[in-house]
Amino acid sequence: MSNKIEPVSESKSFPDSVIIIGAGVFGLSTALAIAKLHPLTKVTIVDRLTPPVADGTSVDTTRCIRSDYLDPIYGRLAKQSQKLIQEDPDLRKHLFQQGMTFVCDGQPSRFTEVWRSQLERGKSSNPANYEELITREEVFQRIHGKDSRPPPLSSIGGEARWKTAYCNIEDAFIDAKESIQIYYNRCLATSTIDFLCGSAVERILVNDDKAEGVVLQDGAVIIAEMVIVAAGAWSNRLVYLGTRVVPVGHEVAWIKVSAEEEARWKNMSITTNMSTGLNIFPPYNGEIKILRRSPGYKNTTIITHPEDPSRKIQISYPRTIVSNPNDVIPSDAEAAMRDNLREIMPTLADRPFDRSKICWISTTPTADFLIAPHPHITGVHLATGGSAHAWKFLPLIGDWVVASIMDVLPQELVEKWAFDRHTGDSDQNAPRMDGEPQELRDIVRYRL
Ligand SMILES: Cc1cc2nc3c(=O)[nH]c(=O)nc-3n(C[C@H](O)[C@H](O)[C@H](O)COP(=O)(O)OP(=O)(O)OC[C@H]3O[C@@H](n4cnc5c(N)ncnc54)[C@H](O)[C@@H]3O)c2cc1C
Repeated sequence: MSNKIEPVSESKSFPDSVIIIGAGVFGLSTALAIAKLHPLTKVTIVDRLTPPVADGTSVDTTRCIRSDYLDPIYGRLAKQSQKLIQEDPDLRKHLFQQGMTFVCDGQPSRFTEVWRSQLERGKSSNPANYEELITREEVFQRIHGKDSRPPPLSSIGGEARWKTAYCNIEDAFIDAKESIQIYYNRCLATSTIDFLCGSAVERILVNDDKAEGVVLQDGAVIIAEMVIVAAGAWSNRLVYLGTRVVPVGHEVAWIKVSAEEEARWKNMSITTNMSTGLNIFPPYNGEIKILRRSPGYKNTTIITHPEDPSRKIQISYPRTIVSNPNDVIPSDAEAAMRDNLREIMPTLADRPFDRSKICWISTTPTADFLIAPHPHITGVHLATGGSAHAWKFLPLIGDWVVASIMDVLPQELVEKWAFDRHTGDSDQNAPRMDGEPQELRDIVRYRL
């Protein structure tokens, strides 16, 4: 089925004024889509900080643009989106098509199954894009060159984990911060879009189960016909999301590399291990970024129930490089990263991190987004739940949000992104390691 969004019927009217809470990929893309499709609507984007927001999930040195999905719907949408990024004269300057190598340890597990199925699906539709790396040596040589040899098993505990792989040469990485700057500039240049940055939304103003606007932390009130919640991992403080969307933090670190190393590894692909969760990006601006899809971290916080001020609830709430600038990643995260590097990039294994951070995502049980009307507050629309894979859809997300507001989203997407979608295929579209998120405050470390 095509996901083409049909023209809106004449009878359905779009709100005259919209507040978007959040200026990440969901918020900025939605603002531009509204300006394109409903040019008479006044849009106000409110953010705690000015974009590119330093601790926003959408803002980072790099993000993967990949179409390797088990789910054919995301796979198709990812291809469409990558084409739009390639055709965008500004974004494409920051896109680097160096492929993505998916490695696994070959042991029986759900990760090996996802790996195998992704390869089979990809190869059957586009064999020319797939390089298979059967042995440990070939996996290592894809990064370090034909004359290199992986470290002996005896030096890495006897068990190889970077064992077998395939590379999809079509996949790419993008400079995420520069891209968000481009989208921010486009919004600034659009006469119907205004920004209010520097004061967070304290709460959505609701009367008789109908949204009337928002109240900012400084007490200012802004009125609008519709409020779109695109606040990423902070969304749970603004609307009650229960377990539909849960903020989870993941560890990221950067290692400086020399000019000689940068030249040597310049053409490597993004290299990710499905079994251990480690992601290694090619060198970019003198550094290599690594991250791990661990079970993650939570930061349990008591807040006033966003929809019933008489009650208190516990949520996980982002603790970030802005709120806690001296935090570094927990020691278990660092140890796991170094353990992986010892096998696949041994010369980096003991090198100090230049910096590290916990990056927060609004995770959903199935890794499906949440793009839907609020279940009982009229005039609130939800555009969040990006999990660990929404960035790549930057050019499309806004169209989907507008279509959802207008009730013309294709049915398969309505079902995928509905408020009540708690079960379905597991998180195979952006799989995390098995286990529960750890409480960050119990293990947090600081830079002195
Ligand atoms: C480590 C990591 C790696 C990832 N890798 C990839 C990848 O390779 N490819 C990919 O496609 N996706 C990836 N993702 C996922 C992707 O980055 C996210 O899904 C996406 O960026 C989420 O965007 P967002 O707009 O929901 O959130 P954000 O970008 O966080 O935007 C939310 C905004 O809301 C603002 N806000 C919050 N509360 C308030 C308030 N009360 N008032 C005003 N403003 C508020 C915040 O300041 C923030 O700017 C990754 C995520 C992580 C964490």
